[in-house]
Amino acid sequence: MTATAFDQGEVVVLRGQAYLRRLAYFMVTTVLVVVGSMIAVQQLILAPLDALYVLPVAFVATALGANTGYHMYFTHRAFTTHRFFRGTLALLGTLLCQDSVIQWVANHKRHHRHVDLANKDPHTPWQFGDNRFLVLTIGLWWASMGWKFDRTLTSKKFYAGQLLNEPMLRWFDKHFVTISFAGFAIPFSFGFAIGGLELGTRWFAYFGAFRVFVGYFFTELVVNGLCHCVGSSKFRTKGRSTNLVFMSPLTLGATLHHNHHAFPRILSPAVDKELDPMKLLYQALEKLGIITMAPGPSSHEIEKKRTHVIDSA
Ligand SMILES: [Zn+2]
Ligand SMILES: [Zn+2]
Repeated sequence: MTATAFDQGEVVVLRGQAYLRRLAYFMVTTVLVVVGSMIAVQQLILAPLDALYVLPVAFVATALGANTGYHMYFTHRAFTTHRFFRGTLALLGTLLCQDSVIQWVANHKRHHRHVDLANKDPHTPWQFGDNRFLVLTIGLWWASMGWKFDRTLTSKKFYAGQLLNEPMLRWFDKHFVTISFAGFAIPFSFGFAIGGLELGTRWFAYFGAFRVFVGYFFTELVVNGLCHCVGSSKFRTKGRSTNLVFMSPLTLGATLHHNHHAFPRILSPAVDKELDPMKLLYQALEKLGIITMAPGPSSHEIEKKRTHVIDSA
């Protein structure tokens, strides 16, 4: 790996085996997720009552792993918590097969720093220019999938050096591939032990593949992609982030992404009474003493940033 012409040390260029290993990881997990999710959808059509336990597990595991854990805790430090809950969040995030925790944090900090600048923001849908058609086609592909195959990788040392000093996170980082594959193997093994090959395959499909698909769909396609090119905005921010307010209940608040760019340290981005089901969970966790939220901006600070202009696609 060598440094590029980016800011000094900001990114590294993957070469040889390091690049092939990363490529192979994402290709193998993509195949597992696509095949498993097809099985899951077929099963859910045949046995729709299964959705009563499959969907909550998939959605809550995604919300806690990706948004609460990787995003709001490890990247933005929107709350403090105990070691056990920190480990749980790191585990749930790792199981989503998106990237190791420290790499994810580094990518996301680079996203905020260079938001929507082509070749600087790692996953902006505006990577190929301002043409609306390109943004909504190849741009969305890049934001959700293509950027994973980029040889230019965000430097963990530059963006997340402090996390490299935390032994627990270094452990999760080092064992990222093993842990994320265990997320497919363990549901299969439990199902197989209880009900043979059929139940094993079904649990692999539900709790391995489909869970990861939900995470990919909402985090990568919807938030990285759509929430940077369609929807509404109301605060002065860098970049072109948007809210998809109508999707907020379904995505557990993740699509209030423009609010997040305006106020990155607020744990729940529902600053204007938008619906974010996670807000209730966060309040409950705080009452139970599991988390302590960072102080948010005052209403004066919120109003100061407001543009009163609503843009929509
Ligand atoms: Zn963003
Ligand atoms: Zn963020």
